[in-house]
Amino acid sequence: MDSVVSMDKLISLCKRRGFIFQSSEIYGGLASAWDYGPLGIELKNRIHSYWWKTMTQLHDNIVGIDAAIMMHPRVWEASGHVENFTDPLVDCKECKLRFRADMIDEKNMKEHTCPECGGELTDPRNFNLMFKTHLGPVEDAGSVVYLRPETAQGIYVNYKNVMQTSRQKIPFGIAQVGKAFRNEITTKNFIFRTCEFEQMEMQYFIHPQEDDKWFEHWKEKRLKYYLALGIRENKLRFKEHGPGELAHYAKKAFDIEYEFPFGWKEIEGIHNRTDYDLRRHMEYSGKDLKYLDDVTKERYIPYIIETSAGLTRSVLVVLSDAYGEEEVEGENRTVLRFHPLIAPITIGVFPLVKKDGLAEYAKEIEESLRAEFAVFYDQGGAIGRRYRRQDEIGTPFCITIDYQTKDDNTVTLRFRDSMEQVRVKVDDLVSRIRQEIKEYRRKE
Ligand code: ATP
Repeated sequence: MDSVVSMDKLISLCKRRGFIFQSSEIYGGLASAWDYGPLGIELKNRIHSYWWKTMTQLHDNIVGIDAAIMMHPRVWEASGHVENFTDPLVDCKECKLRFRADMIDEKNMKEHTCPECGGELTDPRNFNLMFKTHLGPVEDAGSVVYLRPETAQGIYVNYKNVMQTSRQKIPFGIAQVGKAFRNEITTKNFIFRTCEFEQMEMQYFIHPQEDDKWFEHWKEKRLKYYLALGIRENKLRFKEHGPGELAHYAKKAFDIEYEFPFGWKEIEGIHNRTDYDLRRHMEYSGKDLKYLDDVTKERYIPYIIETSAGLTRSVLVVLSDAYGEEEVEGENRTVLRFHPLIAPITIGVFPLVKKDGLAEYAKEIEESLRAEFAVFYDQGGAIGRRYRRQDEIGTPFCITIDYQTKDDNTVTLRFRDSMEQVRVKVDDLVSRIRQEIKEYRRKE
């Protein structure tokens, strides 16, 4: 099994099989913008649902919201984003390319030379990453609004509404999944870093003296989540932010990193944001956002532990981790080893041949599975080819209806990872597949 996947292969598979297309492709594409095709949206939706279930349904003290992308502009002054959400950029005076100063290697920065052409670089200048637009018909300073660069602020400004309406007491959490926008300069590596992306964030409101305890709690829980999603353990690690690397709101921060084909990179940040955000919103809005503990009568501004994951970035994690190639009977097999819970298609259903009533029987079985599983029916081509097509898009189970099915009501159930085949009674199919999904463990 070749576990080293190249980005070129992944991008080509994504396009060929309808996971991800370049945005506005017929016009030559738009840099770093991508569209999710029929299989891509299924994969993204399933990761979204899995995260949502893990964070809300499995906790009695975490609830969800869906806030607007555009918020009152004062929110971004209070949050510190107008002032601090900047990247240091340098320009090459020769080739005119622009770079993030913190991403240029030390030698080039010291010598002020361009990593592309060797030309002279300007001094770093701070560039704000927020997209600005105007609300209403008049484009003046008073109509400026921002596209949110993180979903978190929609949670902070609603925390009292949510707490009161859902009768939560500290500690409790609020979860949200939604789009965020950043005017990123370096947007290579496919969907890894884009200007428009989706985040899955959970903000956990706690007593200020319990921050270390809850930070450790969420750090461990979030790592386990990726393992449960089927990501290989040796491809995941923590990285702590050093003092110079902390965001303006953070007291402590750990990234969960994944080893992509282009190296170890952040996939999620776990941050102790202290009472920074709520304190600032109190100052800027003039509203009291303190919490009253009705047992101890203590009044305080809660601390917040944030878990902030990228949804679109998670799609890339899952694709990179699942991709494999191997030789089977002298032929190359490409396979995506998705966890069955997130595979875009769960079951492929094939009649061995179209004639003699097998197609009709297969259609019947397909219909009976559709209510519970994502099913794909395929009657075209040799059976081996049909298996390969499903392997390539990560379908974990395939069912083949053959002549024996007509005699004894059994079908062949074939497993993607091992390519093993077993005979199963048609009546037992649903329960067997449910069980296989529940007990699924990736072998390598
Ligand atoms: P970086 O330093 O790489 O720019 P960051 O530390 O600013 O990222 P956070 O603000 O912590 O990132 O964002 C939380 C998560 O949101 C990240 O771990 C990542 O999964 C996702 N994310 C952030 N920026 C982008 C982007 N431009 N494209 C896709 N996902 C992103």
